[in-house]
Amino acid sequence: MTIQELVVGGRRRAALDGATFSVREPATGGVLAEVARAGTADVDDALTIATRAFEAGVWSRTGATARGRVLGRVAALLRDRAEEIAMIEAHNAGKPLGDARWEVEAAAATFEYYAGAANKLFGEVVPVQEPGLDVVLREPVGVCALVVPWNFPLLIASWKSAPALACGNPIILKPASYTPLSALLLGEILVEAGVPPDCVSVLPGPGAEVGGALVADRRVNKISFTGETATGAGILRASSDNITRVSLELGGKSASVVFADADIERCIEETPMSVFGNAGQDCCARSRILVERSAYDDFVSRFAARVERIRVGLPIDEATEMGPLISPAQRETAQRYLAIGQDEGAELVTGGLVPSDSALSAGSFLTPAVLAGVRNEMQVAQDEIFGPVVCIIPFDDEADAVRQANDSNYGLSGSLWTRELGRATRVARALRTGTLSVNSNRSVRSETPFGGYKRSGLGRELGMHAMQHYTEVKNVFFSSE
Ligand code: NDP
Repeated sequence: MTIQELVVGGRRRAALDGATFSVREPATGGVLAEVARAGTADVDDALTIATRAFEAGVWSRTGATARGRVLGRVAALLRDRAEEIAMIEAHNAGKPLGDARWEVEAAAATFEYYAGAANKLFGEVVPVQEPGLDVVLREPVGVCALVVPWNFPLLIASWKSAPALACGNPIILKPASYTPLSALLLGEILVEAGVPPDCVSVLPGPGAEVGGALVADRRVNKISFTGETATGAGILRASSDNITRVSLELGGKSASVVFADADIERCIEETPMSVFGNAGQDCCARSRILVERSAYDDFVSRFAARVERIRVGLPIDEATEMGPLISPAQRETAQRYLAIGQDEGAELVTGGLVPSDSALSAGSFLTPAVLAGVRNEMQVAQDEIFGPVVCIIPFDDEADAVRQANDSNYGLSGSLWTRELGRATRVARALRTGTLSVNSNRSVRSETPFGGYKRSGLGRELGMHAMQHYTEVKNVFFSSE
């Protein structure tokens, strides 16, 4: 099996100590690839190259329009190779091929957006009292360490690298150990498109060692992290001595709030995949569904019947809607929470089973599980499970719905289903969450800010908001005296 090498300063090479690790396929448990395993010496090398490149201005002094053109080529190259990349992601992350294709297109769209954004990051002129001209400049922040998780490996790498590069910064990407393959390919594509090689490194390797070395290094000017809340808190601590700029996209326990007046038919048809898409391993998963009590029993039975129609299968089977979880350990976590929920008094209405199909026996599959009779204070309704488990919870009135939806350590995403405009307006304003969709389950668009309240994160990705993270503000006063 050929070894997938690191990308260091735009060039493929082995780890300095020659170490490698095996990447497994969640659907079969088999080894998919052998990958070079970066260590702290590789981090040091990548940082030396990136720092030198930043100081020399090889990318930051390239005009913003020219940078945009390069990012446009990245989008085109991703689209040219879409089927190949989707296949890699389906095998590596266990996601259904259709979802993997969507992810590649969404990654290309992200680069396309920031291709256009690069020359639209304007400064300001401030009318100060002194005679002269006062301008606010936005300058590249410097070396960016981009640490990404395994659930949307290519997409989240793109959310970070596209705006970081649009603003003129060198990047060092640390993919999750489960899913390094598409990130390595992205590194290659960035260089092929015209990003200066010294501005691109991709370092697969153990989180605590490689990620830990990156986030504690004073040569890193900006950390953008997506992953678990506990890891994010550790990164804040590790980077605090250097006062490194940090943005964090963390966990979620988002709610769909369903009022009895809603288009229940449509809600039931569309909501299951907002919970069980990516096998529930989605920070935006609506893993709590709050339903007005008068509609509750009917909703639970119809929702469960719809969930039973979700096709669980091999990721490369075109008919599959839900693939395996990323690992046996992730499946065990989901199963453990199903047991906890039932001990707490919830009813398992459907799912939570290891499929009997022999074709799926070696993978980490679990059928989508619906827990009803859940109270919001139960552990199963409070903890992020990151697996195919939904809690359906009744509420009494508008105030109760808002109280329960907000009764969470998290505040990332969510949906609101009602036909009453006044109520939609009131509840949308009252929910403490970073993104909310009314009569829809969409959370993320390239053009709009995305991120969390409370323990779901710090800062916003996507849209022009992300450009703030990858720039520093400089105020310059020109005296006319
Ligand atoms: P982790 O926090 O375990 O890992 C995320 C990344 O951080 C990986 O690349 C990991 O490397 C690395 N890492 C681990 N430890 C450290 C460390 N000490 N210092 C620096 N980097 C480290 O999260 P998961 O990969 O398990 O991802 C799932 C989580 O991500 C969920 O909680 C989910 O909600 C959240 N998430 C949030 C999103 C958002 O936008 N808010 C979007 C998607 C996911 P390695 O893989 O080698 O351990």
